[in-house]
Amino acid sequence: MNVEFSPELEAFRREVAEFFATAPTPAIREAGRKTTSVFAPFDQCMAWHQILYQKGWAAPHWPKEYGGTGWSVEQRFIFAEEYRKADLPPLLPQSLGMVGPLLIDLGTEEQKAKYLPPILKGEDFWAQGYSEPGSGSDLASLSCRAEADGDDYIINGSKIWTTYAHHANRMFMLVRTSTDGKKQAGITFLLLDRMDYPGMEVRPIYGLDGFPEQCEVFFDNVRVPQSGRVGEENQGWSVAKHLLKHERGGGNAASPTLMRYLERAREAAGQTPSPFGGMLADDPVFQRDFGELEADVISLSHLEKLAISGHEIARDPAFPSMNKTINSELIQRASVMMSRVSGVGGLARQLEALRVGSNVEPQGSEFDLITMPLYLNSRATTIYAGSNEVQRDLIARSLAAGA
Ligand SMILES: Cc1cc2nc3c(=O)[nH]c(=O)nc-3n(C[C@H](O)[C@H](O)[C@H](O)COP(=O)(O)OP(=O)(O)OC[C@H]3O[C@@H](n4cnc5c(N)ncnc54)[C@H](O)[C@@H]3O)c2cc1C
Repeated sequence: MNVEFSPELEAFRREVAEFFATAPTPAIREAGRKTTSVFAPFDQCMAWHQILYQKGWAAPHWPKEYGGTGWSVEQRFIFAEEYRKADLPPLLPQSLGMVGPLLIDLGTEEQKAKYLPPILKGEDFWAQGYSEPGSGSDLASLSCRAEADGDDYIINGSKIWTTYAHHANRMFMLVRTSTDGKKQAGITFLLLDRMDYPGMEVRPIYGLDGFPEQCEVFFDNVRVPQSGRVGEENQGWSVAKHLLKHERGGGNAASPTLMRYLERAREAAGQTPSPFGGMLADDPVFQRDFGELEADVISLSHLEKLAISGHEIARDPAFPSMNKTINSELIQRASVMMSRVSGVGGLARQLEALRVGSNVEPQGSEFDLITMPLYLNSRATTIYAGSNEVQRDLIARSLAAGA
């Protein structure tokens, strides 16, 4: 792949940078700078999604016929780079990156017509109801039950760690429709049109960083239409796994975000005195550690460019697990590097100053404000979307099968 950009691509870069410099509102910019998770502040994130939709840029990774941009690999990468340079809030992954691509691949024509346009426009936001208490890594053991009743299912049970369920207006979920045979054989994939069905209750969970990002969702005789089923009854395990490929493989590259974290760390290190004299950025030990991390991020960036260019590596069954493992560990390492630069400056708990629109002045710099919540939040990157221990198992099994 050519890494020297042509004049046309440089013109495209200027067009994107110009749009990013003018289109976002001040609140959207503030939300981007204060994002300390994969999940940006909800209201500003959805407002920005709608602006991108108006421009035709909400879903660069979708096929053009469904509203994608039809950009080349280079254009997609340039877009992602400029996006992060402008510190804009990342769009939420569950709708555009998971259920949208799943429906494009496996949905019926009715489901596509009903659900894809509001996802693209940023009118709908979907929560992911997979995990249950006791069924995380061993997801196929899930027990939230759906019993057929006429044209409906009646759901009883609960889900946990459902990210942003308190903001969602729709939810995709796995339910148990049979206990006969293998546990994988009795699972069904359902689309729920509402989060306020009678008998459905969403309770937020506060994370280590002090924010309610995940939720518990309870179902007490919740009646939902069977028309929301994707695939056949009891065949939902293969649908669920197909979605996980999108979740782990990633329609969006992680390396531009990592590069931006490193840039911010490097800038801050240039203004932070080292205990050994001079600035931290000039300290040889710091430079060595920073350089190692930067080299690993650059390697990931090459891997991601190969993947979005359709290189055969992305078709390797182990690729989604490999990609997830590498980028989740790099996010954690970047957050450690940022905390190292902030030092005690990052220790103050400043939840109010972090709120978008707050009039509370942060103690220290904006960099200090975000480092500790980012560090705490990123402890979860090696757990969600399937823990890294389990991903390593999957990689090993895939290699053994191919040997
Ligand atoms: C921030 C966050 C957001 C999340 N968002 C969502 C969401 O939106 N929707 C959703 O459905 N779920 C979500 N999850 C749940 C997530 O998918 C699970 O937490 C994850 O799959 C691990 O399951 P568990 O928490 O039950 O841990 P367990 O499965 O109990 O694992 C505990 C430990 O044992 C290890 N372990 C388990 N099995 C094996 C094995 N076979 N080999 C080696 N080690 C093993 C694990 O690696 C882990 O260290 C989220 C989780 C987090 C933390």
